[in-house]
Amino acid sequence: MKLSPQFESIARFLTGKRLLLSEIPFPQDVITEALVQNVIEKVSGLQENGTNLKCKRCGNQDRSLFGVHHCDRCEQDCSYCRHCLQLGKISSCQHLYSWIGPPISYGNLQDTLKWQGELSPGQKQASESVIQAIIDQAELLVWAVCGGGKTEVLFHGLERAFATGKRVLITTPRTDVVKELYPRIQASFTQVSITALYGGSKDRHSNAQLVLATTHQAMRFYKAFDVVIVDEVDAFPFSYDESLQYAVEHAKKPTAATILLSATPSAQLVKRRPFNIVKIPRRYHGFPLPVPRFQWIGNWKKQVKKSQLPPKLHHWIQTYLCKKKPLLLFVPSVSTLATISQILTENSIEHASVHAAEPNRHEAVQAFRRKNISLMVTTTILERGVTFPDVQVAVLGAEDDVFTEAALVQISGRVGRKKETPTGDIVFFHYGVTKAMRAARAHIEQMNREGGFS
Ligand SMILES: [Zn+2]
Ligand SMILES: [Zn+2]
Repeated sequence: MKLSPQFESIARFLTGKRLLLSEIPFPQDVITEALVQNVIEKVSGLQENGTNLKCKRCGNQDRSLFGVHHCDRCEQDCSYCRHCLQLGKISSCQHLYSWIGPPISYGNLQDTLKWQGELSPGQKQASESVIQAIIDQAELLVWAVCGGGKTEVLFHGLERAFATGKRVLITTPRTDVVKELYPRIQASFTQVSITALYGGSKDRHSNAQLVLATTHQAMRFYKAFDVVIVDEVDAFPFSYDESLQYAVEHAKKPTAATILLSATPSAQLVKRRPFNIVKIPRRYHGFPLPVPRFQWIGNWKKQVKKSQLPPKLHHWIQTYLCKKKPLLLFVPSVSTLATISQILTENSIEHASVHAAEPNRHEAVQAFRRKNISLMVTTTILERGVTFPDVQVAVLGAEDDVFTEAALVQISGRVGRKKETPTGDIVFFHYGVTKAMRAARAHIEQMNREGGFS
């Protein structure tokens, strides 16, 4: 079927998406004609089944996450989904539109990979598994240690996907990770159309062949991708938000390959066979993972209340500041962050602090990376996705519930990531050893054994 130029541009715009009428910048009569010609399909935004509701965009079925408003559109009391409200209000009288006409082709781009680095033996094996999963349209879990170099492991698979005209989604729960990944991927594939979608990004309705998106933004897509890569699959909020999994399931074509990446997959995920697992137990530079030390410091909350740093922590900070090493100090909460920051200021220790709601977060991280700041105090927000050369890491109050096994493994994984500085110190300052602390240390030691270190 030969498409008219107008339908051609609708196809380009709407392929692989499911959007509200208000999001589609074409005249109503053209859309009506496309519906008549059966190249566009529309479905109710909310599916009503007796008293049950289901949002067709985000999969929400939780009654408490629907609102009712007097609707200007249908002039009645109308339900809407509150769960995906940030993508634009979707109510029962609205429809989601998608393209069902002839598919858009991306062409077969040859030799797109500009990256010329070398893969470690572990990376090479994982890279071959990724290529195979893409060819077989299979599901694969790449279980790489922190610093295993999992991004590079994707490169040859991506090249293969582009050579066969495939469209790819890389999605991750965290905006920080999208922002960090985007320039690296762009530099490695200069000929491929690539876009990054996250809350606040300029691009919203991209037709790029390679889309990097937060899992939230992935909700805009529908049967769009031949390959879906989920990075940090264990990270908040993907691990327990079913609707985000729903979004990922909807974004991919029924025959898509799925590649999951994680350093700390949950036991639940590992059990969810059958799919293949390939492990990268060694870091790309060949050095073992730094194993955390445990350091008891007593009732540190009491000391902090009296405006004192626990002496052992104070000593640790001073020692490394003298050696001009960059230091990351993880604390369990935003309130502890504020108190510690104040005590450090009283002790004339220059530092910066970051947490999720901190507006200057990215500037502070950049300053730390440039070594303009030597000590960074942070909540778990910096536990993953960031690399600082030669950083030494401490956790204050490692016994706190926020420091799960996965979080502690990720935090330990910040140390020694660079080839030039492959070792470093990681200390858990605590008031009682927890199961999570022991499990994290056992996890790291196990990976080191599998990596051939005894
Ligand atoms: Zn919804
Ligand atoms: Zn309505």
